[in-house]
Amino acid sequence: MIVIKFGGSSVADRQQIEKVANIIKSRADQPQMVISSAHKGVTSQLIEAATQAAQGHLDIPLALARQQQICQSLGCPDACLKTLYEELTALLRGISLVRELSARTLDYVASFGERMSVRVIAWYLRQQRLNALPFDAWELGLITDSNFGAARPIEGYQQAIAKQRTTFENVIPIVTGFIAKDQQGNITTLGRNGSDLSATLFAEALVADSCEIWSDTDGVMSADPGLVANARNIPQMSFREASELARFGSRILHPASLEPVTRAAIPLRVMNTNAPEHPGTLIRQTTSDHRDHITSIAYKEHQTIVTINSSAMLQHSGFLAEIFTILGRYQIVVDMISTSEVSLSFSTESSAQLNLALRELKAFGDCEVVNNKTIIAIVAPQPNDFIRYNVDVLAILQAQQIDTEMLSLGYRSINLMLLIDDVHISQAVQSLHNAFFTH
Ligand code: ASP
Ligand code: MG
Repeated sequence: MIVIKFGGSSVADRQQIEKVANIIKSRADQPQMVISSAHKGVTSQLIEAATQAAQGHLDIPLALARQQQICQSLGCPDACLKTLYEELTALLRGISLVRELSARTLDYVASFGERMSVRVIAWYLRQQRLNALPFDAWELGLITDSNFGAARPIEGYQQAIAKQRTTFENVIPIVTGFIAKDQQGNITTLGRNGSDLSATLFAEALVADSCEIWSDTDGVMSADPGLVANARNIPQMSFREASELARFGSRILHPASLEPVTRAAIPLRVMNTNAPEHPGTLIRQTTSDHRDHITSIAYKEHQTIVTINSSAMLQHSGFLAEIFTILGRYQIVVDMISTSEVSLSFSTESSAQLNLALRELKAFGDCEVVNNKTIIAIVAPQPNDFIRYNVDVLAILQAQQIDTEMLSLGYRSINLMLLIDDVHISQAVQSLHNAFFTH
């Protein structure tokens, strides 16, 4: 069995959905499950409509416009989505009346994107003589916790999904990505771009032979092709390399999506809907190709750096534990850390929570906070490769008058992280890419 996931851009309009139909046909020799995102732009439009409604501005025609346009272009009859349109209309009306939008209600609104897209796509595929049926992920056993906006499956989900296998025997199930239900029956979402995670969770639970993620680049690239014109495809990489890249915003895969397939050792392919004959990128436990260059350069912008300077740190045990206990209490996510005897710097995203934590962190020493920083992550196939390639990253950036303000490489890590100013992103990524790929 193969699990195939199509992202928002792959199902953006009639032209793209036709390509999707061809891809599904080309894989008809084996049982398949299709996971789909909402059509590109629909989720954002729904979230915007809910936010506006909570402020008393109700515009139902605008909220439905994109979806209706796609239906029309496909010739999909209104009846196909009538009940969902009615439910969404009533929901937005309710929000505009009570002027309140909880995380739970926002997930409920956002869920309509996928609920509508799978029905329309399944309808279209049936016109193409494919035996497709739409499913909401919860009908096939995907039940999560109640952490609205970032829900995760509850224990036992693999068995719960596997038990539903007979529900979609002999059909091609077109399943909603991104959404699920909690144990009380409330609709939840896995977080923006969460359809990748839906796909890998289903692949794991159904012990799929492979999982394919279809989007709009030729697999994973050596750098953001928007910044680096000669960025190239990476034919193969390990789960470890892929998860470092996903975490640092390579934008191709949801960071959490690699865990289920890594656990189950299911090969993951990243493919391009606009170039289906391109082999894309194969991600699996180990890679057989011995590359003579790094894997890829990713970056994460708009980061905040907190530095705590304190001589109390010197020879003091438990200091870091106390600091991270505070960060944990405020649910602050830290990506990059660097310490010396008397100072600690870490990167995070600016938030109200961070401000609260800072009030407590000040008790430990001077706290300095700077914004608008970018972490550049240079990921290599093997630890030590950075030394082997003999590329002086600091000198390369300095030659462009870019200061490296922080640096981190863990023990036998495959991810070298550098911190620069946001304004230098494109210059820095281009010059590093040149240096690593032409050395
Ligand atoms: N439709 C959701 C979003 O736009 C999930 C996804 O596309 O993966 O974030
Ligand atoms: Mg995506």
